[in-house]
Amino acid sequence: MPTMAAPAGTHVVRLVIIGGGFSGIGMAIRLRQAGIEDFVILERGHDSGGTWRDNSYPGCACDVQSSLYSFSFAPNPAWSRSFAPQPEIRDYLRTCARDFDIDRHFVFDQTVTGAVWDDVAQHWTVTAGSADTTTTAWCAHAVVMASGALSDPILPAIPGIEDYTGNLFHSARWNHHVDLSRKRVAVIGTGASAIQFIPEIQPRVASLEIFQRTPPWILPRHDTAVPEWRKALYRALPLTQRLQRAALYAMRESLVHAFHHRALARAVEWRARTFMESQISDPVLREKLVPDYQIGCKRILVSDDYYRAIQRPNVSLVTERIRAIQPTGIVTVDGALHHADVVVLGTGFRPTDPPLAPLIIGRDRRSLAEVWQGSPNAYMGTTVAGFPNFFMLLGPNTALGHSSVMLMVEAQIDHVLSVLQLLESRGAAAADPDPTAQREYVAMIDARLATSTWNAGGCSSWYLDRTGRNSTLWPDGVGRFRRTVSHVNADAYRWLPRRASPALVTANG
Ligand code: NAP
Repeated sequence: MPTMAAPAGTHVVRLVIIGGGFSGIGMAIRLRQAGIEDFVILERGHDSGGTWRDNSYPGCACDVQSSLYSFSFAPNPAWSRSFAPQPEIRDYLRTCARDFDIDRHFVFDQTVTGAVWDDVAQHWTVTAGSADTTTTAWCAHAVVMASGALSDPILPAIPGIEDYTGNLFHSARWNHHVDLSRKRVAVIGTGASAIQFIPEIQPRVASLEIFQRTPPWILPRHDTAVPEWRKALYRALPLTQRLQRAALYAMRESLVHAFHHRALARAVEWRARTFMESQISDPVLREKLVPDYQIGCKRILVSDDYYRAIQRPNVSLVTERIRAIQPTGIVTVDGALHHADVVVLGTGFRPTDPPLAPLIIGRDRRSLAEVWQGSPNAYMGTTVAGFPNFFMLLGPNTALGHSSVMLMVEAQIDHVLSVLQLLESRGAAAADPDPTAQREYVAMIDARLATSTWNAGGCSSWYLDRTGRNSTLWPDGVGRFRRTVSHVNADAYRWLPRRASPALVTANG
């Protein structure tokens, strides 16, 4: 590594990771395993865990089996259920951070306010700070954006929302100080989060009105407690848990074909429909719950208790569109005012507009947001032409509709480490993808997605960005992504030579 010049007061590190959730912790562990110690994790919260720290709503749990939704290098024999609840996942991440000795790399309460590439000095300057401290600057050869795709909640643009006088909060920022007992509660949204918390809060509240805009396709989750003997087996013979993970991986890989072949999708639709019919007895309610788009177009939801919960006497499913929110409740287009003491927004996230994108400034002084123009794209979902030594985990087109995104993150981490190694072995200062290689990669993804259910299934979803492009999903199996991404084609990158006389002065050694 060349020595970097840095203004006084600036910290100098080899690498900055932005975000201390699943991806950031995974990156940090693998950096250490590769012998790289000179890095920090800038985390805006007071603790690690990312979305699994922030999403603490009742019933929050993984909707992919936990033995697959965990690091391959850190199996956890102690998962209590096949789909572990949020506190266990949060604690798993804390344990990983502790056991792999990366806690000391965290700098908490650091909201990143900018990251600018300096083409002369050949480094990034990352600025960060919290409300009550002065801004800190970090000089780094490389930046890994691990800020998560589903970390910033959307507050819907419903007229009058700011005038509401009851308690209103988003599921991703659950207000645990609000006691829902015997309250009239309104829930807006019927996505993955809402169908998890509705069955939990239903028994406590006086009344629950669920405002459904689009019915979701739901399959049974088949969540079960992991028996003690199996945990003991996993501890005694770790290979058995690896085999179970491999079996789950293979089973989920087979599901991806349903997103490309209508006949297979129809079979899954039939399964979802019979599940709903077996659970819902009232034909009027059934009618409201049948989606009018192909299964998989939106994320397929899994639940064992949602349909049961919405048939309880204190629950009603409102399918009239919302017109406005008034100080005391929600007004639907039929003019009815639905009084509510509490409104819970289960309205999701917007992964196609990452809040950091306007703050990341590349070689030609343009931000990621300016380059993307509302449609994020990247080479291997990880690097962007014009942004040297800048990497994204869970970047564009790396989400999945059929399996665990942790598998994608690990493949991307391999990619990052390979680029870093190549930088060393080539004696280069920086690398960014060749624009043609990036264009071809994105065109390959677009072509594959064009006829898929995600794009052509007749729905709107958070997979699509504001230009209508699917900039969120990887179109194939995880195996193909791993094979494509894990090894670096050096010809697909531009390698910037080191400048002849690197400055030797650094602020803090
Ligand atoms: P979501 O799936 O995007 O659902 C948002 C819901 O809010 C939808 O039903 C949407 O209706 C509705 N909505 C949004 N704006 C509205 C408005 N203005 N008026 C009325 N309804 C409105 O969000 P989410 O449930 O938070 O889940 C997001 C993603 O997070 C999931 O797809 C999943 O990937 C992830 N997640 C994962 C887990 C896990 O276990 N691993 C758990 C929860 C969430 P429309 O469908 O009509 O837009």
